[in-house]
Amino acid sequence: MANTQAKPVPDGISRTYWEGANLGEFRYQRCGACGKAQFYARNACVHCHATDLAWQKAGGGGRIASFSVIHRAPIASFASDVPYVLALVDLDEGFRFMCNVLRCDPAQVRIGMAVRVCFESRHGSEQKIPQVEPA
Ligand SMILES: [Zn+2]
Repeated sequence: MANTQAKPVPDGISRTYWEGANLGEFRYQRCGACGKAQFYARNACVHCHATDLAWQKAGGGGRIASFSVIHRAPIASFASDVPYVLALVDLDEGFRFMCNVLRCDPAQVRIGMAVRVCFESRHGSEQKIPQVEPA
């Protein structure tokens, strides 16, 4: 079957993030003006609107803030993956991101569960995708 699952398309602002993922690094932005972290990458700080943003590497630790177990594939190419977990994860650096929880029985996922970032190679794509697994 042809792989029709969504693939990232790195652009000017996200290229650094996706290149980091291929190196096993979870990169995010921190504001030089107010010191707060933000994710995903943008041209200005979402907290204070400054443009003094620097890329940093997350340690990879975090906790599940919310999740949903997907039992019905949104498109046919995800049919072999169900059930899978879509989660919002709070990383230790102070931002939230959406990902799948891998290498875990979906019935075992809990809000507050400790997780760590991992990098998925999806269906032969050269682009690795940041996800999480139980810590
Ligand atoms: Zn700021």
